[in-house]
Amino acid sequence: MLDSASRAGAPAGHGTGAGPESITTGQIMGSHLSTTVAEGLAFMQIVDGRKVDSLSGERIDVACPSDGKVFASIPASGSADVDTAVKAAHTAFSEGPWSRMPAFERGRLLTRLFNLIGEHGDELAALESRDTGKPVRQGKADVAATMRYYEFYGGAADKMHGDTIPFLNGYTALTLREPHGVVAGIIPWNYPLQILARVAGAALAMGNTLVVKPAEDASLSTIRIAELALEAGFPAGVFNVITGYGAEAGAALSAHPLVDYVTFTGSPLTGTRIQQAAAVNNRGVTMELGGKSPQIVFADADLDAALPVLVNAIIQNGGQTCSAGSRVLIEKPVYEAVATALEERFSKLVAGPHDADLDLGPMINRKQMERVTGYVAAAEEAGIPVLARGSVHADAPAGGYYAPPVLFGSVDPQAAIAQEEVFGPVLSLFAFDGEEEAIRLANSTEYGLVAGVWTRDGARQHRVAKRVRAGQVFVNGYGAGGGIELPFGGFKKSGHGREKGFEALFDMSATKTIVFNHG
Ligand code: ADP
Repeated sequence: MLDSASRAGAPAGHGTGAGPESITTGQIMGSHLSTTVAEGLAFMQIVDGRKVDSLSGERIDVACPSDGKVFASIPASGSADVDTAVKAAHTAFSEGPWSRMPAFERGRLLTRLFNLIGEHGDELAALESRDTGKPVRQGKADVAATMRYYEFYGGAADKMHGDTIPFLNGYTALTLREPHGVVAGIIPWNYPLQILARVAGAALAMGNTLVVKPAEDASLSTIRIAELALEAGFPAGVFNVITGYGAEAGAALSAHPLVDYVTFTGSPLTGTRIQQAAAVNNRGVTMELGGKSPQIVFADADLDAALPVLVNAIIQNGGQTCSAGSRVLIEKPVYEAVATALEERFSKLVAGPHDADLDLGPMINRKQMERVTGYVAAAEEAGIPVLARGSVHADAPAGGYYAPPVLFGSVDPQAAIAQEEVFGPVLSLFAFDGEEEAIRLANSTEYGLVAGVWTRDGARQHRVAKRVRAGQVFVNGYGAGGGIELPFGGFKKSGHGREKGFEALFDMSATKTIVFNHG
């Protein structure tokens, strides 16, 4: 799960550019954990155009990952709440004004939402940062990418059209692209604003209605965007948000018989559960399930250009990015030089609270922090050498969920840390000998989301880009500043279906064929 312009000019998949180099010296100046942002607010979910609590009245505390302290709450909804929201979305799809609205008007509503997000940009960035712990700079970059999604899909809504097909004499055959109906969007906690935007932008542009279930750890910006959508003029029932735990609200949503299509970004295990639930109703799904993405550095690469990007691709958003470049494959003649340069950079990296805006923030929650430190401890126990370790700022609050960045060298390609998605600031280095071995290593995990290829050899750029199994391949770069226009999704365990760009409009619609017999 990952997307604007880093100092390296090449941010990883989601979110915009965390700077590649340490910006930390001395004290955290003026760090006060932005204690006024959403402080004490009881957020409401959005169902059928209204702000509502859960039917049970139960709530979930919202803690800031930077200090672990509760500052707000969200409704804890279950299957009855989901049923109400899905029925509202179903009615809005089949009977409401939305169903009769021309495509260009849907586009104008998305463009109005784009404008409103711009007006509330600072507020949204601060909210996202406090809710997820991401540095404020990353929150702002996420807002910029989010705006691009609504701008892009606002413009695209009336550009999608079908075909006419040469058929038998006396017939005219044509196709229409029709919306699925009610789209369920189950959103992860790493880039809530951006991932909601890629789902909502494409789904609404095609005329679907939405029920969104954001992650229990990061629901606030989704609620705010749905409120702004109402202000923009989306009819009641078109853009619904249900908050709650995955096993309750999420499971009920993916299994609901009136849901027509499910789109999910998150872990493979949860993806399997959601597909099984949707399969009972024989509904289609789009699955974006993470990666173990390689960057391949050949001996002829421009190392000065590559180094900051290699670092940024794993520390952006604390490594909690589907498209994180978590494996760096280095050709033997330059292995030592690249490893030494990365060591220097990694040892200077500093994690700290979101509003101190250091190299990286905390992990989203305690479980995630323990997952990351557990992978690191297991790799150390297995004898994999730690080349460098960053630090947690001395003034970072003790209750925060910090995991310092770690660089491992000479990693066994079969080790857990080489095969499994850690979802943290942990980078593994591997040496290779020639193009064949590079490709074999790059393809040696179950994942296939993104890859980077660093070489000045043009023919090799093409050969390697074609043979690496990944949904996106970057040559002499990595990530794409959000890549709103670029189809995104995986091979193998990284999932199926494509989001972003025009391609997402196909996932968010179905072809209807109409045949006229005019004799
Ligand atoms: P994590 O394990 O880090 O929480 P997940 O991939 O499980 O990541 O979570 C991503 C999203 O999926 C969240 O919105 C979460 O609430 C939701 N989710 C978790 N479990 C289920 C489930 N069984 N059914 C539907 N959604 C779920």
